[in-house]
Amino acid sequence: MKLPLANTRDTWRGAAKIAKTNWKILSVTTVAQLAAAGAAVAIPFLVGKLLDQITHGTNSAQVTTYIWAFAALVLIQLVCTFVGEYAGQIFGERSFHTLRTNLMRDLLKLPLGTVENAGTGDMLGRITKDIDRIDFFFRRGLGAMLSLLATVIVTYVLAFWTSPLLAPVLFLPLLGMWPLGRWYFPKAIPAYQAGSAMWAEVNGQISENAEQAEHLESLGLVPLRNRRLRHSLTTIFNNERYTAWLRFWLLGVTQLNVLFPLLAVIGWGGYLKSHGLVSTGELTTIFLYVLTLRYPIDESTFWIDQIQYAQTSLSRILGVGTVPADRAPSVTSVTGKAWEMQDLRFRYGNGPEVLKGLDLRLEPGETLAIVGTSGAGKSTLARLLAGIDLPTGGTLTVGDVAIGDLAEDALHKQVALLTQEHHIFDATLAQNLQLAAPDATEDELLSALEAVGATWVRDLPDGLETNLGASQVHLSPSQAQQVALARLVLMDPHTLILDEATSMMDPNSARDIEHALGKVLQGRTVVMIAHRLFTAQDADRICVMEDGQIAELGTHDELVAAEGRYAHLWEAWTAQ
Ligand code: ADP
Repeated sequence: MKLPLANTRDTWRGAAKIAKTNWKILSVTTVAQLAAAGAAVAIPFLVGKLLDQITHGTNSAQVTTYIWAFAALVLIQLVCTFVGEYAGQIFGERSFHTLRTNLMRDLLKLPLGTVENAGTGDMLGRITKDIDRIDFFFRRGLGAMLSLLATVIVTYVLAFWTSPLLAPVLFLPLLGMWPLGRWYFPKAIPAYQAGSAMWAEVNGQISENAEQAEHLESLGLVPLRNRRLRHSLTTIFNNERYTAWLRFWLLGVTQLNVLFPLLAVIGWGGYLKSHGLVSTGELTTIFLYVLTLRYPIDESTFWIDQIQYAQTSLSRILGVGTVPADRAPSVTSVTGKAWEMQDLRFRYGNGPEVLKGLDLRLEPGETLAIVGTSGAGKSTLARLLAGIDLPTGGTLTVGDVAIGDLAEDALHKQVALLTQEHHIFDATLAQNLQLAAPDATEDELLSALEAVGATWVRDLPDGLETNLGASQVHLSPSQAQQVALARLVLMDPHTLILDEATSMMDPNSARDIEHALGKVLQGRTVVMIAHRLFTAQDADRICVMEDGQIAELGTHDELVAAEGRYAHLWEAWTAQ
């Protein structure tokens, strides 16, 4: 499930909106580029005039006037090009800034489930490659294209002014470009879009391979992953070859296109001249215009390509904003602390139901252990309780408020999820902790660390200001876990969800962590996904899940006495 693309209409609308926001600077660059093009194109026009005057007999004063006029035009062209480029760069920077800011806003608003399903590659591709392409297009492309467009328009206007009979030959390249465009675009756009999606997938594969290198090696999955990567790269290669083939024809036919008018000017121009319908000067001007047009038409093939890339990238960037919100949070504070599930149901996307109608009430301060075979739905339930995913049926409330109605801050005051995955950011220890409580003071940070037994903070070279991260001070897994626990202390939610929190620890550090964890859990409602039954044993109640349903619910003693599923699991466990 990749993130969506914005459709063509919305993409153009998005581009128009950016242009509208920055219309002043865009107008400056447009006017300046038009003036620069006007000045450049006026030179052949004056050359023709001068030639005619020389043919008819002129004096040196008139020729000197022309020379001054040429000099003035060159100067105007120089100044206007500079102003146009400068304003174009400012427009590019501003537009790019708006786009990047909006992308970050849209990314941060994405439902977490959507982010997880889309995978890192897709998102990374949009943030890096697509943003780079747009950046290039805004900085370089817009100015260049405006200049090309202005040159073409002014050339046509002056050509018709010079000789309405001969000027139509300048339309010949356009006549050829029209069918070429109709052939090229419908093939190129999907191919470029497919290419971007393939690159995103390869990015994802590479980052996954790098992150999971040790696991892949130990499981002997390296050849398999290599084969998959090679296959993806071959697909990309084939796609690139196809688009290169399309470009080859685009370029080749364009080259031929600019040759025709040259022949036409010689043929048709010679005919008109021999009948006295054009002057030598007019013929020269049009001939020079045919030559002038070669550059913008040649260049335009490059920029037409870049427009495709930019449009594809823009549709990927704007597509992030089209993901509908999964909730409309409106409640900012909750009074009660009890949890209530009624006929709670959940399915991932269009998949089968994985939670099939759970009814359960959790009292404040209660500890509930959830046990069950793999795939029973334990982690899914944990995700729902933590507010990551929302129920697809039934209700889940905390203090009588549906979990989807809670604003983000209010949600974090109710519940936090602690999993094996906790990230230490490449920042100081203080900054790592302040993620959970941005306003916490140094004392509060230190006492949170003390509370989880992280006495090692005293030995760090710069205490709380020590830089953590790969190239800096490296924390051991149990120290990292303590940082995660200290974050929880700072967030201070009344309910904690522990999903396999300590199962990956080596037994010694697991005991340390469990001790620290014990302190953090005190006085809170706790839902614990228990993989080792002895942790479940101490819970107030145990919930045995099976196939998305609650199979048994009660205290350890009750369930052992009932001689049901839990009793059998317990028997097997204690016999080990
Ligand atoms: P448990 O934690 O008990 O092992 P889970 O809650 O992880 O069970 O999974 C319950 C069911 O949901 C399983 O059939 C699993 O394949 C499916 N499932 C889990 N995560 C996803 C997901 N992101 N997308 C689709 N199905 C999923």
